[in-house]
Amino acid sequence: MGARDLIQSFSLGELRQGLAVTLKYMFAPKITIQYPEEKTPASPRFRGLHALRRYPNGEERCIACKLCEAVCPALAITIESAEREDGSRRTTRYDIDLTKCIFCGFCEEACPVDAIVESHIFEYHGETRGDLYYTKQMLLANGDRYEAEIAKAREADAKYR
Ligand code: SF4
Ligand code: SF4
Repeated sequence: MGARDLIQSFSLGELRQGLAVTLKYMFAPKITIQYPEEKTPASPRFRGLHALRRYPNGEERCIACKLCEAVCPALAITIESAEREDGSRRTTRYDIDLTKCIFCGFCEEACPVDAIVESHIFEYHGETRGDLYYTKQMLLANGDRYEAEIAKAREADAKYR
């Protein structure tokens, strides 16, 4: 060990250097946030959890045209439909397998009545594979729960179309 190393060692030079770095970052602006209390802003074009919407009178928007099913590149959507007593056609089954979905947004773009949408919700999870298989009832429940937010986002999007 040379004299220089000896002095460095006895004067705790490395320790002081390390503490200087700690002190510097203690007062530097923080780049971390306290999630989930704090959140970073999301892009208005973010595509999150799917939802099926209703009209204000409670009627389902979806008319079972199956365009979303046809356009889906991941074959994630499964639809079955039937005619109702009043002659209108509605889905009897509308499932989305989110383990297949690539969140491309094609289903949303293809829908002529704004029924299937991708919300800004990203805080959902599944503990087993089946948990991410969303049925019609689950998708309608998402729509009912987030309708105010979805409607506002659609209104904002319309300005850019
Ligand atoms: S976002 Fe894309 S991959 Fe997912 S269900 Fe819609 S069309 Fe299919
Ligand atoms: S969600 Fe839209 S595109 Fe898909 S079947 Fe219903 S109306 Fe057609």
